Amino acid sequence: MKSWKEECGVFGIWNHPEAARLACLGLYSMQHRGQESAGIVTLKEGEHIHHKGIGLVSDVFREADLARLGGQAAIGHVRYSTTGQNLLTNAQPLTADLYHWPIALAHNGNIVNHDMLRSDLKERGSIFQGTNDTEILLHLLSQHRSSDLVAALTDSLVKLEGAYSLVIMSNDKMIAIRDPWGFRPLVIGRKKIDETTWARVVASETCAFDLIGAQFEREIEPGEMFWVDEKGEHSKIFSHRERRAHCIFEHIYFSRPDSIVFGESVYATRKQFGRQLARETSVEADLVIPVPDSGLPASIGYSQESGIPFELGIIKNQYVGRTFIQPTQAIRDFGVKIKLNPQTAVLKDKKVIVIDDSLVRGTTSRKIVSLIRQAGAKEVHMRIASPPTVGPCYYGVDTPQKSQLIASKYSVEEIGQYVGADTLGYLSIEGLFQVMQSNSKTITKSKYCAACFDGKYPTDLFGLDEGDAK
Ligand code: AMP
Repeated sequence: MKSWKEECGVFGIWNHPEAARLACLGLYSMQHRGQESAGIVTLKEGEHIHHKGIGLVSDVFREADLARLGGQAAIGHVRYSTTGQNLLTNAQPLTADLYHWPIALAHNGNIVNHDMLRSDLKERGSIFQGTNDTEILLHLLSQHRSSDLVAALTDSLVKLEGAYSLVIMSNDKMIAIRDPWGFRPLVIGRKKIDETTWARVVASETCAFDLIGAQFEREIEPGEMFWVDEKGEHSKIFSHRERRAHCIFEHIYFSRPDSIVFGESVYATRKQFGRQLARETSVEADLVIPVPDSGLPASIGYSQESGIPFELGIIKNQYVGRTFIQPTQAIRDFGVKIKLNPQTAVLKDKKVIVIDDSLVRGTTSRKIVSLIRQAGAKEVHMRIASPPTVGPCYYGVDTPQKSQLIASKYSVEEIGQYVGADTLGYLSIEGLFQVMQSNSKTITKSKYCAACFDGKYPTDLFGLDEGDAK
């Protein structure tokens, strides 16, 4: 059951009279983390009220839905998953009325031992509704005898391996949890209500706090469970690991540039990747242009480092969705054309360096190089602000299986020929870590997961990679 290719964003707010509306805005600012379904569960007079739907946040939530949700607390979720999983039953937050408490659960990440846990639970009588890995936690909780949710969670979480940033709500508390590796981001802040009262907020990314006027305080620590209830705030470390495994791809592509992720500005980091790329792969050219929007910050960095002027050589239609997520190759190809328009006035007779954040299948780059040539460019030098993508992600980023990753089969020169560029250059893995290291004195290689680039998966994969090895 391929339920592991999911990308998500989570949000939670405790003690605010406009909980549902703020949750909706928080999700809206994290729409880039998942465009397939959205949902909010509120706590209203001790009961859970939920609204979930397929589509974008702005389509799923109407004014009447938000009025009905009401509540003093809310958790929310946006989700994207690959083919066959576009089911309302998989939309989150998941809800269940367990023996001791009602539970609502929003999860970002992927649990790599889900197949094994799922069959164990089925054997013991659990009836699963959907195909997503998150449901496992509901069943583990339902089989736990304790009426203490924190204790039940502590016992259940140690059975999970992989990536989980969770926001959970019962009838009397909201809980934020991050797996001991810290794969996915999860941050905590507060929103002022008046001089003496404030609401607690948690989110995948700090950009959600910016929108709702909340102050970012800190990350939830890897292996930390933080909860808030009528008595106040509490925190405990439920599992400790020396090594971290923050997803490097959050900094390369996934997070919004205006977020602070793993303690670093995403925008500043991407610019640094561009600068490093310029140092490593310099070439004589007239212009540096980004693939919008994914290559923008890195292109600025490349231009600043190389002294080659920055131009917007390709204009993006802002109203077209992500080409990557279209289900068939034919639609994906079409998608690139309707999304990006190269400007002949800028590109004609120019030697152009075009920069993107990553190259996965090679489809996008191939189209873009061809469009730039059609617009009259004399030379096209493709530069990628990350290393060659050689491995799928099993921890919550939707990368295709290994056989579709062009760099898993071909050399940089061969990929350059495939995309039709005069030259192709990637950021080196060493360069990538050099940037992360210079960003912060505390960072070492063991703080990040870069398995998509170096194939070093920090956890056992429980056979998830078997179908991918071909
Ligand atoms: P490809 O055509 O497969 O080489 O796709 C590369 C393009 O997809 C780049 O422009 C990236 O910005 C973008 N990209 C990389 N990873 C993802 C992802 N997980 N979801 C959506 N787009 C992505």
